[in-house]
Amino acid sequence: MKKTIAVIASIVLILLSGCSRISTVKDPSSLSSSSVVSPEVSESITPPGSSTFEPSEPSDISSQISSSVLPVSDPEITSLQNLLKELGYFSGEITGLMDDATVSALEHFQKNNGIDVTGRYDKDTIDLINSGKLIPNEEKLPLSGLIIGIDPGHQRHGNSDLEPVAPGSDVMKKKVSSGTQGKWTRTPEWEVNLKVGLRLKELLENAGATVIITHDSPDVDISNVERAQMFNDNNTDYALRLHCNGNADETQHGAFMLIPKNNPFYEDCVRAAEILLEEYCTSTGAYNRGLTYRSDQSGFNWCDRMIINIEMGYMSNEEEDHNLSDPDYQEKMAQGLFKGILRYFNEYRKDQTEE
Ligand SMILES: [Zn+2]
Repeated sequence: MKKTIAVIASIVLILLSGCSRISTVKDPSSLSSSSVVSPEVSESITPPGSSTFEPSEPSDISSQISSSVLPVSDPEITSLQNLLKELGYFSGEITGLMDDATVSALEHFQKNNGIDVTGRYDKDTIDLINSGKLIPNEEKLPLSGLIIGIDPGHQRHGNSDLEPVAPGSDVMKKKVSSGTQGKWTRTPEWEVNLKVGLRLKELLENAGATVIITHDSPDVDISNVERAQMFNDNNTDYALRLHCNGNADETQHGAFMLIPKNNPFYEDCVRAAEILLEEYCTSTGAYNRGLTYRSDQSGFNWCDRMIINIEMGYMSNEEEDHNLSDPDYQEKMAQGLFKGILRYFNEYRKDQTEE
């Protein structure tokens, strides 16, 4: 038992001191030679109180052991964030907090390195980091370093409690409604939004992005204000709300964009919306209904980041209702959105930095 604790303690020590070593190494092949630590070697590491300890690290070994199992310790999360940043997985702020962006980056790191994708700072992850054989994020991926927010509109059950439509406003709106539904298929809107959102997340992550999705299950209770704040908290570079529309007039069909009237990145929103809608309509064949500007959306008004909303089709139109529930069409929807986001960063943001 004592020996086990000593081994765990040694691993923690290596972990705490290991990040600074790894951070100076860019070439993955040299990581393995400089940082590989076998269990036998780790047992001979000098005990607490010796010179291997960073002066700033806590000296109570028992707290380090427990916090390495349960990821609550700030210094460890700080080290993890630094490591993920060095390896190209994390582009957020180093906060020492296990926030959504860090979990997402960790999942991406776990996936690329062939261990179970848990999003947790678990034993496999610690063992992998101790092994020193770490595969960095492929830097040539087109969306590497970008944080993209996705909010699939609505949830299974709406919440009719009220919240201010904008910071400081007396006008109140429902926290989140349950959305529309297919007039023929009876498919609820949240289902289409969520399916397309999850597929889009996958496409974006494969292209190197860190994705913040507001929920991955319909059984949540997250208000529109809270969704906007998630994007603020994670400093998203691009945020997209996904919705479908409904109208008493069954002939109405096609896709259109909502853009916030008041947003610090207004010009970016307009350009992103134009590009996204063009690609979406090309991919799906949907009719392009253009852009509309809104000041009545809580999900916009509370968001400090660039944000846009696509209305992907009319569930009150017979043909479009059937399309929106069709897996093949949903793939075209996700692909179109993906291309739109990719083109925005490849063309527009690139042009901006070149000017
Ligand atoms: Zn909606």
